[in-house]
This record gives sequence, structure tokens and C-alpha cells, in this order.
Amino acid sequence: MSKTRQHNVYAAQWSADGGAMGSVDLTAPGGIEFGENVFSLAVQRARLPKHTFKALQASLAAGSALEATLADTVAQAMREWAMEKGATHYTHWFQPLTNLTAEKHDGFFEPVGDGTALADFSGKELIQGEPDASSFPSGGLRATFEARGYTAWDPTSPAFIIENPNGALLCIPTAFVSWTGEALDHKIPLLRSMDALSNAAVKALNLLGDHSAARVFTTIGPEQEYFLIDEQYYFERPDLYTTGRTLFGANPPKGQELDEHYFGSIPERVLAYMMEVEAELTKLGIPIKTRHNEVAPAQYELAPMFESSNISSDHQQLTMQVLQSTARNYGLVCLLHEKPFAGLNGSGKHNNWSMGTDTGVNLLKPGETPETNAQFLFFCAAVIKAVNKHQALLRASVANAGQDHRLGANEAPPAIISIFLGKELENAFEMVATGKGTALKKGLLSLGTEVLPVLPKDGGDRNRTSPFAFTGNRFEFRAVGSSMSLGFVNTVLNTIAAEALDELSTQLAKELKTAKGDVFKAVSAIVKSVWEDDNAIIFDGDGYSDAWHKEAEKRGLLNLPTTPDALPAIISKSTIDAFKKYKVLSKRELESRYEVFVEQYSSKLNIEAETTYTMARTLILPAALQHVALLNDAGEGAGITRLKTELAAIVDTLVEDIFALEKANDHNGPHGGVKHASYMRDVVIPAMNSVRASADKLERIVADDFWPIPKYSEMLFIK
Ligand code: ADP
Ligand code: MG
Repeated sequence: MSKTRQHNVYAAQWSADGGAMGSVDLTAPGGIEFGENVFSLAVQRARLPKHTFKALQASLAAGSALEATLADTVAQAMREWAMEKGATHYTHWFQPLTNLTAEKHDGFFEPVGDGTALADFSGKELIQGEPDASSFPSGGLRATFEARGYTAWDPTSPAFIIENPNGALLCIPTAFVSWTGEALDHKIPLLRSMDALSNAAVKALNLLGDHSAARVFTTIGPEQEYFLIDEQYYFERPDLYTTGRTLFGANPPKGQELDEHYFGSIPERVLAYMMEVEAELTKLGIPIKTRHNEVAPAQYELAPMFESSNISSDHQQLTMQVLQSTARNYGLVCLLHEKPFAGLNGSGKHNNWSMGTDTGVNLLKPGETPETNAQFLFFCAAVIKAVNKHQALLRASVANAGQDHRLGANEAPPAIISIFLGKELENAFEMVATGKGTALKKGLLSLGTEVLPVLPKDGGDRNRTSPFAFTGNRFEFRAVGSSMSLGFVNTVLNTIAAEALDELSTQLAKELKTAKGDVFKAVSAIVKSVWEDDNAIIFDGDGYSDAWHKEAEKRGLLNLPTTPDALPAIISKSTIDAFKKYKVLSKRELESRYEVFVEQYSSKLNIEAETTYTMARTLILPAALQHVALLNDAGEGAGITRLKTELAAIVDTLVEDIFALEKANDHNGPHGGVKHASYMRDVVIPAMNSVRASADKLERIVADDFWPIPKYSEMLFIK
């Protein structure tokens, strides 16, 4: 058997290990292990002295600091609980600007001087940590000599336990700041933006006549797409384990054109894996709900129920971690890159986003009464206004090197931001604005007033090509990338929505005066003005079509196809003004993010270029030369000569391309900043693509047994 066949046969072997986990009995009491590894409200209530529990909840509600003695009591209860679960260490778990989480473990045990040790964990250790911050991305917020950074406990996100075969770890969600008080992470700005949005939304609700809500939460339900391939193939491909995507690979004879995979029956090994992932996530209190095959072969999706933004964002980080770590138990590797395989769909993370009151009202859900529908239209109008004004920033918030292969390709939302409202809702807006349009349809709710029209009862139609789609009771920001943290993108959403709400509230107050307190009239006036000012952003057609690109240009919408085009919006005047006004990020903090993201782009491309060069030179070229030798040994016939000529031409081009890539990436280009990023995009990427083009041609003609890396058809179809 050839080497390739042997590999494939080996990769295809999988044993369920005699049904390793067994199945859950949902009918038995305690059958669901939901939140078993979380220091949840219920656990806190059970384990803390009554007065401590009450004081903790009170300080949470008020957003005030916890008294030192109370913190000690909480810490002790937390440690005892964690140690019963097998924890030996704790960590302040935080989210630097890398899309990943960071952890530094400290043991609970401290020597007491007589040769023995005691377990200890103080309130101070719970509340504040001081990791060396010098090696985290800071974008100039901190010089290396100012190494100090602080982590601070976020009591609104409960602590949890991460299990390992050899012990357990207590994780305490924390925020991460520099010693000058500037945010070095994704959590702090997200929390600040949630506050900003809450204030603006409560103010708007008051004007609309609803005085019952004290706080408004933003909610996220993220749908995570990912690929799974056998680990054997993964570890045979330096491009995959170094860059997360394939830098080489000819189109396989079969891709996704048969549409067999989407919602197809889930392969047994994959399903077993998914079940273990879900079991782990359940223990962590992550309300995982949905699983299915995605469009590309070997692509899958999972989605939790939505939660408050901060919790959902933390949970999403954990989900990515569990997806990756659990895969190895099944001989699989989980790829979270936005575009692991050229020519196939990439992976996104659809960010379902809404706003809800502490009294349980979803502000983006058309209601049962005229009042709630007026309220809905007002909040919806604010979102339209915000997205239109800050379209460049929203585009920037989902920009990274991986996304550049996805956004704008024929499977992902375009790089042009637009909003899909659905026929009914668009019609409703249009009627208010222009008085024209078709009114009552079956299944629609009347607003009971002449001024405002009817609203759809359910989500209406869907549009998979829209980057920002209304889906009945929320907006779905579909352009978010699969590897991204939810922090920054939702910070942006919340902040721009807060700004638009405030702006419209000011207008509403005036309109209410003019309309002598008639809310319906006043809201109609607002809807009319938003429709007049901002309806260029509304589009319900095919976002993939060329016609839309032309139409969008005519409408003056921004098309920012690549990361270097998009990122400058993070430091544009409109961004700085909005973020400063709501104290979400200062100018310096925005500049630091801009610098970090630009540098990440250039660094990632440099790593890709180096990997392309090395693989081409040390794996692919030698394979081609082996094939040259094979042909040379084969003699002289006309057919052989033809093959030799064909091969020699491709090898010559490949060699030229390899040297050209080396030259392009030898850092003679501009250093640092967006100029460097643009150079990587304009010069280095094309040089990499040339190398790949020759290599992919060779893949189709070099003897299979010589080919040094697994092919697309193997990685994608052997399950
Ligand atoms: P689909 O693939 O059909 O869009 P899914 O069921 O895969 O839908 O995912 C929908 C996501 O939207 C879920 O995570 C769900 O919890 C979330 N969602 C529903 N309501 C809200 C809301 N009010 N706020 C945020 N997310 C929501
Ligand atoms: Mg889905």
C-alpha cells in the first residue's frame, strides 16, 4: 500500500471507546450537570454566610467595591468549593488583545515554616492580581519598562473550574489594566459600553413613557462555525499548525458543489465529539443549544442560547477553548480560522445582538400593543442610524487577516456594511416616512393608530447575504469572524447604539413637545427623519451580486475590502468622539487598539509568507524533483518528453516564485504601521499566491507517493 493510502486508512480509524461518556438521563433528578463547575449564584447562596451573600449582591447591584473582610469570606468559600472539585491552583483569567485568554496559575498552598504547608487564598488575591504585563500587546499604552499590569475581579461573571486529567484550576474572570489605568483587554471596554448603552436606553424608555426599567442589558447569541479534520493530517501540515490555514492545496475534484453536507446527518465520530463538548460546556454553565453540519465538507456549527453580553463574551472564549481541547480526545483538530481551505466556505461567528430591560422586555421585538411597537420602532431606528453613521467602524471591528479571505467572497457577507430589515419592516418604515406602501397584510399586528403602520409578527424573510440582518427580535451581525473574541465588536455595537439613542432621544423630547405629548406622533416623526437621513444603508437584495457593489457605490456606502483599508476607522474622528463621550475608550486606548490590530495583520502575513517559503522549498520542490528523476529514469519516448517539458516549466516557475517571495518578504518594505500592512497586502500576498499556484499545479501531476502533505480531498472527506 502506498504511503498516502496507509495514512488515510489510519486516519479513518476511530473507536468510540465503548461509548466512553455514556448518555445523560435527563429524566433523573440532577441528570443535567448544568453549571456544576460554576461558582454560581446558587452556590454562593448555599456557601456564603447570609449577610456576606447579601452584601455581595448589594455591591454587585450598586457596582461598588466589596469591603475587604467580605472579600476574605467570599475568597475562602470560593477556595473551599474549588478544592472540593479538585482544584489546587487559581488564576485570574483575562482577555488581552489577542482574541485568546490568558492565565497565570498560583497554588493555594503556602508553606507555614515548619516544613508543612496550608491552603490559603485571601480576599486581596481574589480581587486583584499583578501579572507582568510587558509581553501582552498594548499598542504603546505601556513601555516595556513599565511592566506592571493589574487584573481586577469581575464579580458579574462567575468564577469557574477548568478540569484537567491531572487536577483542576479555579478561574476568576478579571479585567486587565495598565498601571496608568488604561484598558489592556477586551472586557473593560465591553463593560463600559454596556453601561453607556444602558443609560441611553433607560433615558429613551422614560421619554417613551416606560418608567419601569432601571437597567437595559445587551444580549449576544453567537453562532460558532468551525472545521474538524483528523489530527494526523493536521500535524503533517506545517501551514495548518503554524498559521491555522492551508497555504497550499489544489482544488479537490469534489468540494461543496453537491450541497450534501449542510444539515446532513452528523458523522458518528463528530457527533461523539460534539456531545463531549456540550457536556463540558454544560458543566461550565454555558447554555449550548444547537449543533449541525455547515455548508463546507468537514464544517460544523454550534450555538448557545443568548446571554448578557459580558457573560456571553466570556462564555464564547471558553467555548472556543473547549472546542479545541476536546477535539484531541477524538483524534481530531478543530480549526477556528476564518478561511482554512481556499475555494470552500469560510467560518464566521454570527453575532445575534439585542437589547433587553431588567423587567424582561426585548426592545427589538415587535410587541403586542401599539405602545410597545412604537418603542420597538424607536429602538430599531436608532440601530439603523448607528450602523449607517459608523459603517466603517463596524467593518473595522471585524477586520483581520483571516477575514480578508472571507468577507466579500461568494459565501460570506460582503465587505460593504448594509442592513436587511425584511419586506414587512422595511414597508412599515417606508409608510411612516412617505405615507406610501401597502398596509395591513395577514399575520401582521395593527398598531391601533392611524399614524404608525403594521409590524410583522414573526421574523419575516431571511437574507443570508446581508452582513447585518434583522431576524425578528434581534439583529444578526453576520460578518464577525470565527476566531474573533466578541469583546471589541460588541463594544462597538453598544457604543454606537448608545450614541444614536441619545441623539434620537434629544429629538424625541422636542417632538413630544410639538405633538403635545402624543408618543405615536413623536415616534413617527423620528422614524421619518431616520428614514430620510439613513435609508441608504437598508438593502434587502443579493449582497453577493456585482449589481449591489455598483448600487452601494452610487448610494455612497463604503466598500472596505481589506484589513488595511478598514482599520483606520478605529481612529477616525467620529469613532474617537463617540468613544470619548461615553468614556468607553479614550483616544489613546483607541490608538493602541489600532496599532495592535495593524501589527497583528502584518505579523500574521509575515508568518504565512515564511511558512509558504519554507514549505515550498523544503517539501514541495524536493517532491517535484523526485518526480523529475522518475521521468528521467523512464527513458525517451514522445510521451515522456512531453511530461518532462510540462514539469520542467512548472518547476522553473516555482523556483522563480520562491526567490521572488523571499525578496518580497525580506522586510525591505516600509516598517511598521498601516503602510507596512498595505505592503504585505499588495506585494507579499501576491508573491505567496504565485508560489501556491505553481505548487498546486504540481500537486496534480507529481506522483501521489512523493507528495509530502495531505491533500484537500483527504483532509475534508476522510472522517
Ligand atoms: P439561525 O442559524 O437560524 O440564525 P440559531 O438557532 O443557530 O439560528 O442561532 C440563533 C441565535 O440567536 C441563538 O444563539 C439565539 O440564542 C440567539 N438569540 C435569540 N434571541 C436573541 C436575543 N434577544 N438577543 C441575542 N441573541 C438572541
Ligand atoms: Mg445557525
